Amino acid sequence: MAITNCPSCNARISSRAKQCPECGFNLEVGTEEDLDRKRRHQRFMKIQSVNNQSMFAMLLFVIGFGYGYWEDLQPPQVEYYVAMGSAAIGFVWYLVNRVRMVLLKKSK
Ligand SMILES: [Zn+2]
Repeated sequence: MAITNCPSCNARISSRAKQCPECGFNLEVGTEEDLDRKRRHQRFMKIQSVNNQSMFAMLLFVIGFGYGYWEDLQPPQVEYYVAMGSAAIGFVWYLVNRVRMVLLKKSK
């Protein structure tokens, strides 16, 4: 039985130990716990990403709609279609992200 150092707290521990007795650092790679932690982290990152996209979509909608409104744009002005197009894309994108969020929160 060899003695090794814990990569986390540097305590001297058995090389066969699955966990550091000092700090609880997991020495086995790819254990169930690690995989679970990884999954939860990925899920968290996904939720963050959907959140950011929701914010961006909302911004796109507000800017597009606000621009068209305040500039009093009318068809057939190109700006009108650009502004309303952005607003429409922002709106649909926002809805898509709401659905994605609901689905993400349902899945474990
Ligand atoms: Zn340790």
